Amino acid sequence: MPDFDFTQRFLFDDTDVRGELADLRGSYAEVLAKHPYPEPVAQLLGELLAAAALLVGTLKFDGLLVLQARSSGAVPLLMVECSSEREVRGIARYHAEQIPTDAGLRELMPEGLLTLTVDPAQGQRYQGIVELQGDSLADCLSGYFASSEQLPTRFWLNADGRRARGFLLQQLPGERLKDAEARAASWEHLVTLADTLTAEELLGLDNETLLHRLYHQEAVRLFEPLPLRFHCSCSRERSANALSSLGHADAEQLLSERSGLVVVDCQFCNQRYEFDATDIAQLFAGGGSEEPSTTRH
Ligand SMILES: [Zn+2]
Repeated sequence: MPDFDFTQRFLFDDTDVRGELADLRGSYAEVLAKHPYPEPVAQLLGELLAAAALLVGTLKFDGLLVLQARSSGAVPLLMVECSSEREVRGIARYHAEQIPTDAGLRELMPEGLLTLTVDPAQGQRYQGIVELQGDSLADCLSGYFASSEQLPTRFWLNADGRRARGFLLQQLPGERLKDAEARAASWEHLVTLADTLTAEELLGLDNETLLHRLYHQEAVRLFEPLPLRFHCSCSRERSANALSSLGHADAEQLLSERSGLVVVDCQFCNQRYEFDATDIAQLFAGGGSEEPSTTRH
């Protein structure tokens, strides 16, 4: 098993189905280290991280994939991003006093909506929305793909605070199996086997063992793992750009409301960017050419 976080594709030789597995430990630990979360919230956040890692593999361009789940319940927000550079970050908001110890998606996120945003570096932003129905985020995502008339796609997601795992099967356009009935039967067969997978297996096994356990009667080709890591994309420059976009007058007003120091906190990683009167003046001097130094972290 690689000692880094990764996704790994696989293909069935005799049918038109592809698969992918996500295995996040280090990046999941970093997300959980930024904020303390009760166990059920950490689980949901891990599942969404694994989902984003799987979905970013379907992006065919440079850009950002954002999964955002909102609800009226104890967990009003889960938000996860994965870039085409394969950098993930995530955050959850929750009402601590309302979190039962053993609650699932239904209890924690009633009246929920899951938004999937694909934000390419160049070109049109795309957004899809699905209701948070079903027992799990995996069910919701599978339902989203079913309703949006994309290629039939199924998700299995589990996380336990240490490891976040995702498993995806996707039916490809017919090349090997042309007969519609044979295609449907083959798809059903592979999905039915995947449905036997327990959370303990997904969270406990490496990919080779897992695929052998499910599909030892199929010819499966497993590809090289693709690394993935935690990275927060915030920077002083981005915070400065956000202040610039307010306009000079509003930025000055904000400065006076905040007693001469505007603080921009990154919600994802807690990094703090401070702007005093001199910084704000520089932001709006000479068309922004004297912007503060660009410190990435
Ligand atoms: Zn940050």
